[in-house]
Amino acid sequence: MPIRIPRPAATSPTRIAGAVSIVALLLIGGFAALAIQTSYNSDLSTEASKLSSTAAVTSELVAREMRSVEVIDQATVERKSFVTAFGPGVAGQIDAAGLQGVLDQVRALRPEFQFAAVSDAAGATLGVSPANPAVMGKNFSYRDWYRGVTRSAKPYVSSAYVSAVKGAPLVVAVATPVRAMTPSDVAGRGLPSGAVIGTFFIGYKIGSIQAFADHIASVEQVDLELTDQAGVLMAREGGIAGQLIKRAPAPDFNAALQGRTGNSMSATELAASSPVSGIGWVIRATTPLSGTVAVAQRRTTTLIASGLLLVLALGSALLVAGTRRLAHANARHAASAAQLQAVLGSLTESITVYDAAGVLISANPATERLLGFRHSGVAGHALVAEPSELIREDGSIIPDEATPLATAVRTGVASEGVVSGIRRLSDHAVRWVSLSAVPIRDGKREVSGYVSSATDVTERVDSAREMRILSEASENLAASLEPAVVIRALTRAAANMCSTPGEPPRRAQIFIVEATSFTITAEDDVDGIAVMEGVTMALGEHPYVQQVVANKEAVVSALDYAQFGGEIASVVMKSGVKNGAWIPIEHRGEVYAVLAVSGRQDALVSDAQLVRLKTLASIGELALNNARTHQHVAEMARTDPLTGLANRRALSERMRQLPRTNFAILAMDIDNLKRINDSHGHAAGDDAIARIGQALAREVRPADLVARMGGDEFLALLVDCDSDGARRLSERLDRTVANLAFGWGAASVSVGFAVGIPGDDPEAVAKTADAVLYEAKALTRQRDDTRGSELPATA
Ligand code: GH3
Ligand code: MG
Repeated sequence: MPIRIPRPAATSPTRIAGAVSIVALLLIGGFAALAIQTSYNSDLSTEASKLSSTAAVTSELVAREMRSVEVIDQATVERKSFVTAFGPGVAGQIDAAGLQGVLDQVRALRPEFQFAAVSDAAGATLGVSPANPAVMGKNFSYRDWYRGVTRSAKPYVSSAYVSAVKGAPLVVAVATPVRAMTPSDVAGRGLPSGAVIGTFFIGYKIGSIQAFADHIASVEQVDLELTDQAGVLMAREGGIAGQLIKRAPAPDFNAALQGRTGNSMSATELAASSPVSGIGWVIRATTPLSGTVAVAQRRTTTLIASGLLLVLALGSALLVAGTRRLAHANARHAASAAQLQAVLGSLTESITVYDAAGVLISANPATERLLGFRHSGVAGHALVAEPSELIREDGSIIPDEATPLATAVRTGVASEGVVSGIRRLSDHAVRWVSLSAVPIRDGKREVSGYVSSATDVTERVDSAREMRILSEASENLAASLEPAVVIRALTRAAANMCSTPGEPPRRAQIFIVEATSFTITAEDDVDGIAVMEGVTMALGEHPYVQQVVANKEAVVSALDYAQFGGEIASVVMKSGVKNGAWIPIEHRGEVYAVLAVSGRQDALVSDAQLVRLKTLASIGELALNNARTHQHVAEMARTDPLTGLANRRALSERMRQLPRTNFAILAMDIDNLKRINDSHGHAAGDDAIARIGQALAREVRPADLVARMGGDEFLALLVDCDSDGARRLSERLDRTVANLAFGWGAASVSVGFAVGIPGDDPEAVAKTADAVLYEAKALTRQRDDTRGSELPATA
């Protein structure tokens, strides 16, 4: 449907050209918009359907391009200067100079135009630009364009042919009937509506169609062919080398000839053909089967590139919106703009268009969501709704002059797929986007503006980083054999995993739960504002942890400070933490620990992060159990099983780590154990060893150590102890043992001690103590010999 432009009273040719090209652009844009919407909504899951939509989008673009020429045809034959110069359309009654002027203006409108010409009703040439006496008066009624227009009395796009003008270029003619002015047209100042008195036609260079197809093909990474209504090739990969040849039929191509989009597949390539609606041409897109994956990735870029056409149309229209004479075009623009807004509004990508100086002209709604700025609708007035800055993946700031757009403006080269973070200054939350900025070139290859697109890749960037941290953490955790080290590695990994570079780092803690309370046993907080490690609190004071323990399920929530118990609320507030995620760590069905991650930004831990935190917690749980088992085994190797005291190995270790103080070593041996065994059984002997050992251990300070050396011998290592202290302790131990009641009576020990000063070898001091004990034993034996009656009863 050609669009009628009202005939302006004294409109300059440039204004007509301006109006016509804007309408043409809008038409292209509107249709591209529809094509985008259709393509986005349609299932692009298979390459064949992608190829079909490429063919469909291209054929719509070609159709609109041709229709934009029809619009120029139509506007020309309705121009007052043309109507006046052409008169009744009879040779001899024409204002040749006036007509030549109009034809020259039209031909100069676009570089794609080879010529502009007009014939009489019978097909004889009455005027042509560039002026060419050789064709004047020549009859071209056999041409396709003539037959097309006379048959329908409507605009018609011809098949390809070799023009008779100079150089015999290959063209298609876009022709429209010229009508006479009726008396009522003249009276009503209307448009000519009388009988057909001629044909006006523009020769459109086939080479330009080739360039157009080549451009789309290169962006799309497919091969494109265009054939006319006679099946003659007009454009194909590598060009047609000035030859009009018929293309061989193919199933997809035949379908397109019948007006349907068709697909076909050969051993080497995939093909889709689509009819160019209303013209009878066919666009055929092919792609080698080997390259199909690469195509998929270029797809979005192409659609966005098509999208920029329509946004541009909007931008250009804005420039002329103020002129009274174009009020009509403006109304049409409003309708198209609404349609464009709907399509742009539905895109999830941000699309922004800038003028040649890099000033923002237009932005779609996704832009505000992604980049944080809104467009006021007036060129050059971007409203910065949320102050933000651009950062790299390592968290460093990208200076203004290094952004993809600035790079494209400076170098004139597209800058594509640059992964950048957009950090909101209010809370430093970061969204990751893939940014592209592409220069838009006009027909003269001059940069007329830039289009920039941004796609949200936050999930992808975050998940790649988190997966890396997770795999590193699982390696580290599996290698740690000490529970404390595991807990520390776990908090480190959790904090790292939930802290996006550039954002305020999140804090991670491990709470060890015991019945009704819990203790913060590890904390990883880069900010370190409020250190809470070591703090024990009642479960009731922390509603979120209480909930996790009760339900055995993770909780993610913004913090409500009022929910915390008294003192805790103020500590949490002081730390600046606004939200948290709490993940239970279970063992045999009981929550014995909680992994807590808290943030100082508004955004909560994401669902994806929560999933990975749970994985991390499971890995941590395994590692913790592993480390605990290991620790248990290690403890067993240092423990005497009968008494539960340290054994000889543990004592030697302690001796090697002796603090630099005076120290004493007591050597003890149970008296007459052989006799106890003999009289009351071996179990009674065991019992005596165990109870006496434990009683001895209870008498010393926590820093000291009592070890069973084997049999009925014990050694006590006493730190910070002189000989007076050692003597007093010996006497006390003596009394302690004497006070123990056994079924068979009372026991006694003999004690010998020796003291050392810093630097003395504890092993040597122990030997001395042993020697003293040996002497004491001799005394005890003497005493026992004289007081035989006090000995344990014999069976
Ligand atoms: P003395 O008064 O001189 O210390 O004589 P004693 O009978 O206690 O004998 P001595 O200290 O020389 O030797 C320790 C004895 O204790 C040797 C062994 O019969 C007994 N004994 C060693 N280990 C154990 C043990 O694990 N359980 C029991 N029931 N008896 C043990
Ligand atoms: Mg003994």
